[in-house]
Amino acid sequence: MTETTDILKQEAFRDSVATISKEGRRNYINPKKPKGRLYNRRTWFSIVYLIIFFTLPFIKVNDAPLFMFNVLERKFIFFGMIFWPQDFFIFGIGMLAFIVFVILFTVVFGRIFCGWACPQTIFMEMVFRKIEYWIDGDSTKQKQLRSMPWNAEKIRKRTIKFIAFFAISFLIANFFLAYLISMDTLLGYMKDPGGHTGTLISLLIFTSVFFFVYWWFREQACIVVCPYGRLQGVLLDKNSIVVAYDHKRGEPRGKLKKNEDHDCKCVDCKNDGACKSINEKMEAIVRQGDCIDCFACVRVCPTGIDIRNGTQLECVNCTACIDACDAIMTSIQKPTGLIRYASENSIVKGEKLKINTRIKAYSAVLMLLLSLLVFLIASRTDLDVRLMRTAGMTYNTLPDGRIANLYNLKLANKTHKDIDFSIRLENMPGEIELVGSGRLLVKKEDYTNLQFFVKLKKENLSGWKTMLNLGLYEKGKKIKNIQARFIGPEVYN
Ligand code: SF4
Ligand code: SF4
Repeated sequence: MTETTDILKQEAFRDSVATISKEGRRNYINPKKPKGRLYNRRTWFSIVYLIIFFTLPFIKVNDAPLFMFNVLERKFIFFGMIFWPQDFFIFGIGMLAFIVFVILFTVVFGRIFCGWACPQTIFMEMVFRKIEYWIDGDSTKQKQLRSMPWNAEKIRKRTIKFIAFFAISFLIANFFLAYLISMDTLLGYMKDPGGHTGTLISLLIFTSVFFFVYWWFREQACIVVCPYGRLQGVLLDKNSIVVAYDHKRGEPRGKLKKNEDHDCKCVDCKNDGACKSINEKMEAIVRQGDCIDCFACVRVCPTGIDIRNGTQLECVNCTACIDACDAIMTSIQKPTGLIRYASENSIVKGEKLKINTRIKAYSAVLMLLLSLLVFLIASRTDLDVRLMRTAGMTYNTLPDGRIANLYNLKLANKTHKDIDFSIRLENMPGEIELVGSGRLLVKKEDYTNLQFFVKLKKENLSGWKTMLNLGLYEKGKKIKNIQARFIGPEVYN
């Protein structure tokens, strides 16, 4: 019975969610400002990250952006290379490789990405939260401000915070849009905002979404919305390195008593005289672990959880609890690292990272996909050509007796220069006649469709189906070979 009660007590944390009150309302988390070795490192890392984020849209290669993800026009640029919907399979393989990489990385290093590189965490913890500490003060002052009536101080602080949050959200929305449509296009729109009200409305919608997330939604984005967080349950195993509490060293936890010898293991208490009451003495006797139950790790947690309950979905591996606990351990003269990056196996069995079958299998799949991706990118051509006979048509017999087929030619120029080209029939005499007039030109980073007739003499046909070799030439130099089927009357078989 006692055992059951103990288990129920231990597992009681599963009955509630830190961010939801007993009444079912949102429990707003006001974490204490973290400080320490890892927080400093994360701050520096974030500065570099933000510089890159805000600089990349300005970088150009051959007059085109280095990165662009234009979903509306289905045009993507990675490292200056243009990808069209025709390259979808490369994109698909790239996405697959990325997913397998994320899985492999998570299996080995847990959610290290969330804490160090996820834009949500970087902007929330390293930009908006810092501004909040600066305007509202630390955790206690934030709580006081929240509960106080709307007096002059609250109105002033809330107004400053609102303006700052909205301005930064607007800035992020602009750069977000720059990644979609390119910085040049965005700057062009800014010069004439009246002519691009649709873009302005989208920009304000993006701004409102960012503002809503960073002002109010916050950690809920990681807990409720992010699919990566939800996947942790299946991706992590006992071998994965996560932010973990060393329960072997920390338990059984207990409050640190005044005058208590910190190194005392309490079973053979050397500090008998220092304990003032029998209760205190008894408490000191049962405590053997290093955790002094000070809750410093809980107070700094931006998702409001207690990492001592084990790895949880809410933990974004932000490392704030590591710093908080290290500071406590230092102050009570114990070794740091009671909370640290560690796997369950390393805590329980002292094992280092094991390259298990799961890791090997994911690595093999990843290598395979990466090799395929490299091959596809290396063999990809600058000019994508699709030639098809016009649907629903067979052939025409011309008044001079020649046979004509109508073709559709689709060209996608993946380079940063215009391509002025000509088409030649290579394996037999014949005529190519364009439908319409004008230059055969496909503009840089653009695509074009055109139609043309191929006219052949009957005696040159080798049956109802003749294979044609066509060449695409730019300034007299062949840039592409195309094969096409030419349909003629069956009688010439
Ligand atoms: S438990 Fe909280 S403070 Fe610790 S790493 Fe996870 S999210 Fe951060
Ligand atoms: S900060 Fe460390 S000592 Fe304090 S409660 Fe957390 S794990 Fe225990």
